[in-house]
Amino acid sequence: MQATLTMRPEQIKALVEHYAHTPRPSDEANVHTRIKRPHLIVTVYTNGTVLFQGANAMREAAFFADAFNLAHPADGQAKPKNFYLRSYGSDETGVGDYFGPLVVACAYVTPADEALLERLGVRDSKSLTDEAVKRMAPTLIKQIPYSLVVLDPATYNTQTNRGFNAHKLKAFLHAQTHKKLRLRVKHDAPIVVDQFCDATHYARYVRDFKDAPIPDIFKTKAESHYASVAVASVIARYRFLSSLEALSQTYAMTLPKGASKAVDEAASRFIETHGLAALNNVAKMHFKTTDKAKENLLNR
Ligand code: MN
Repeated sequence: MQATLTMRPEQIKALVEHYAHTPRPSDEANVHTRIKRPHLIVTVYTNGTVLFQGANAMREAAFFADAFNLAHPADGQAKPKNFYLRSYGSDETGVGDYFGPLVVACAYVTPADEALLERLGVRDSKSLTDEAVKRMAPTLIKQIPYSLVVLDPATYNTQTNRGFNAHKLKAFLHAQTHKKLRLRVKHDAPIVVDQFCDATHYARYVRDFKDAPIPDIFKTKAESHYASVAVASVIARYRFLSSLEALSQTYAMTLPKGASKAVDEAASRFIETHGLAALNNVAKMHFKTTDKAKENLLNR
């Protein structure tokens, strides 16, 4: 991973101080100094270019971009040509997270939003840290028209128990966000949905949904092809994270993201403290995690 920023001399001075680095003259032409930290190499060139390399490159570059109000570094991948297509784009999150709701967001983006979205460094929320999501989402929520559906765990469990399969549920939620936002924005524009099942199934799933908006573009990894979907993914993730934090507070224990051994253990602890019935309010019960958590308790 690498990222580049251009800095003024006083900003470079602050950067060097931030890393508590003592500049040593470099033998390399045009290199002012080079800073090495775990998973990070920062090369400061004499012309003010600062190159961040290593696993922590994007995070560190984004930190300085924020601190100095600089344009956010690109993630090194060229944006697809139609990235800023005027469109309604939707994406969901929370599908793979045992704890917390299922959230679908839809955003309306036009080419006029390019400068803002570039400055914020908007891209697929899966490639962003929670911190980056929390940093950019409040601005997006203010500036970009969007709609949101949050299916809290209890409602999610009721629906899946009624035999709604997870894909059908998602299809309904996507359709709902598009319908809501289209009514508000009132402009005709292509509908982009991040693809999670095949198109024929999607059409069948939404048949029972009145006036279901049919996607013009139904594509996997749509969040890396269309800014509207990328914005939707950030807003959805932001909402998911704040819901999970709120649930953690309510039940006075940390409910971790994802599905892992740590999540199984948290689920066992939750049942011990609050009982199995309450788990229905915080978790997606059909995950294998539920059985593992019960087993863990029996084995104690
Ligand atoms: Mn997606």
